[in-house]
Amino acid sequence: MPHCKPRPDPQTIQIRGACPHDCPDTCALLTTVEDGVAVKVQGNPAHPHTDGALCTKVSRYPERTYHPERLLQPLKRIGPKGTGQFEPVSWDTALDDIAARLGRIADRDPQAILPYSYAGTMGLVQGESMAARFFHKLGASLLKRTICASAGGEALLHTLGAKTGTRVEFFAEAKLILIWGSNSISSNLHFWRYANQAKRAGARLICIDPRKSETADKCHAHIALLPGTDGALALSIMEQLIRHDWLDHDYLARYTLGWEGLRERALQWPPERAAAVCGIEAGQIESLARDYGACAHGGGPAAIRMNYGLQRVHGGGNAVRLIAMLPALIGAWRHRAGGVLLSSSGNFPVQRAALERPDLLAGRSPRTLNMATVGDDLLRPSSAEFGPAVEALIVYNSNPVAIAPDSAKVVQGFAREDLLTVVLEHFQTDTADYADYILPATTQLEHWDVHLSYGHTDALLNRPAIAPLGDCKPNTQIFRELSRRMGFTDACFSDDDEALCRMAYGDAVDFNTLLAQGFATLPSPEAPFAQGHFPTPSGKCEFFSQRLADRGLDGLPDHVPNHEVIHSSSVYPLAMISPPARHFLNSSFVNVASLQRVEGAPLLEMHPADASARDIHDGDTVRVFNARGNYHCRVSLNNRARVGVVNGLGVWWRKLGLNGTNVNELTSQRLTDLGAAPTFYDCLVEVQVATAAGAGDTFPQRPA
Ligand code: SF4
Repeated sequence: MPHCKPRPDPQTIQIRGACPHDCPDTCALLTTVEDGVAVKVQGNPAHPHTDGALCTKVSRYPERTYHPERLLQPLKRIGPKGTGQFEPVSWDTALDDIAARLGRIADRDPQAILPYSYAGTMGLVQGESMAARFFHKLGASLLKRTICASAGGEALLHTLGAKTGTRVEFFAEAKLILIWGSNSISSNLHFWRYANQAKRAGARLICIDPRKSETADKCHAHIALLPGTDGALALSIMEQLIRHDWLDHDYLARYTLGWEGLRERALQWPPERAAAVCGIEAGQIESLARDYGACAHGGGPAAIRMNYGLQRVHGGGNAVRLIAMLPALIGAWRHRAGGVLLSSSGNFPVQRAALERPDLLAGRSPRTLNMATVGDDLLRPSSAEFGPAVEALIVYNSNPVAIAPDSAKVVQGFAREDLLTVVLEHFQTDTADYADYILPATTQLEHWDVHLSYGHTDALLNRPAIAPLGDCKPNTQIFRELSRRMGFTDACFSDDDEALCRMAYGDAVDFNTLLAQGFATLPSPEAPFAQGHFPTPSGKCEFFSQRLADRGLDGLPDHVPNHEVIHSSSVYPLAMISPPARHFLNSSFVNVASLQRVEGAPLLEMHPADASARDIHDGDTVRVFNARGNYHCRVSLNNRARVGVVNGLGVWWRKLGLNGTNVNELTSQRLTDLGAAPTFYDCLVEVQVATAAGAGDTFPQRPA
């Protein structure tokens, strides 16, 4: 009988970290590691906002980290672009060749090199630190990072003065909560916990969203307005507040700027007019305004939780401005549980100049390209107006072939054989299929980082829980090694990741606290605008913005109709929005087998009345189309979609969808009124059963 040595007890440790994903909650993680292997990722119970609970997606982090298709070594393309044919190469081979080719382009004009990145990690270090230094030193084109939140962000800046608002924990004390453009149960779970506390204590919850979401199911009322009409609704609420004198005149007089102009504009929006625009009943607006106005007269604090979905339309900036003004009309800011929250990120004292080192530009002012229009920009030739054609694209923390609008153009751009494309990734995404080189990057479990939050006011530290898998390297290290090959000798290119973590907040956040408990709460006032003190130029809530007027824009907000207004086209009579599928986060997690199984297939939600008019049945494969393209998916008939609006749940990887398509085949590159952001939810389509063209359609092989 062979001698069996008893297996020593596995060495088990727990490492504190932070969720890196694009979600307001920024949860504190606890990773259990056995013998160097991460076996469990859970919420840190010591962090009050996380309270020991994670969403389903991130609870599956070990599955994602050890995914059999995880990229573990550098790959070089050996087939036509887009076909996904690669061979392994050494880091030296890959980086030497990339650096040599970038060097030759930079010798002609470094602006022909474009970085492309977003919130694949929200980390301040693995996001824009060493990467930004590299591109600044190079003199590459700058990227305007607009894909998600810049319309709303700019709107807050020109209204409240910063991305700040009601502290999330105080929503638990509100008596009325408007959940506006947010499916909190799916995408802001830890806010929902506070809203539920308020509900149990007697608060009324009202959801305002074109889609009857899981959150709408749990609220007392749901207002299913048409996409892109939120500004009209806000103006009409104001009209009712004025008509019935549900106003805080003292607050308006002391702490706001431009009331007379706003008042005049709001009075043009009686409920009947707004109801016709919003596609709802006038009585719903009157009732909503009555509930909100009651808070001005002893009804208790009213708080609004906005999210970014509503600003993905032409008038998204103006709509956010109007909604952000509502609390000032009723003096809701006087209470710590009153006001509005879209983002809390402006509270964080991030030392961006130290991290990103714009001084490395050394006086140069490269052009700026907008990530929302990458489809068009990759296809533009050199010109005096545009500058050089884009010759090299370095993609990190993003999957533009799946997530950028107007896929047909994006794919055409990425397919250019003369474009050098380098992609830093965990998986061979749709974008990676078009790369010349794919460089394997570490996940959150394998590297250092520091985080802010746009949903609460705690800074978080992420420590590596396990060693990098295979030959993976952190983004920072990849850019360090490229910098060395480019001959960049500035001392800042030698900063290690822990030094970068310390630099992110400098002395403004105690790094020892971050090391000791994984998070640090920022000092911030409980009721920031109870007595004005808005961080605007006037110090007031700016109904009228001189800064916007100086740019030739309307200084007062208004309802700005969609680029593609419903009922304006007989060819494309349906409006489409594309909120995230519940188990995906943008295009992250789509390839995680257990989550993909729950989602099943790319889905279009459609109201039965719209389906019946088109002889469409539940479960049919349909073609959703407009002049930009065709999207093939399954249809689900239910009342989550209102009449006239279809919900294309996103964002599937194209190659995991039907016929290699996803919902962004249909979305446009047109921009918002403020913030130059994409207008994903401003999109008219038609739907039909996939017949001849769809008869042979199949979904790709799915993981068992
Ligand atoms: S995605 Fe959001 S809810 Fe899920 S773990 Fe990350 S921060 Fe928390």
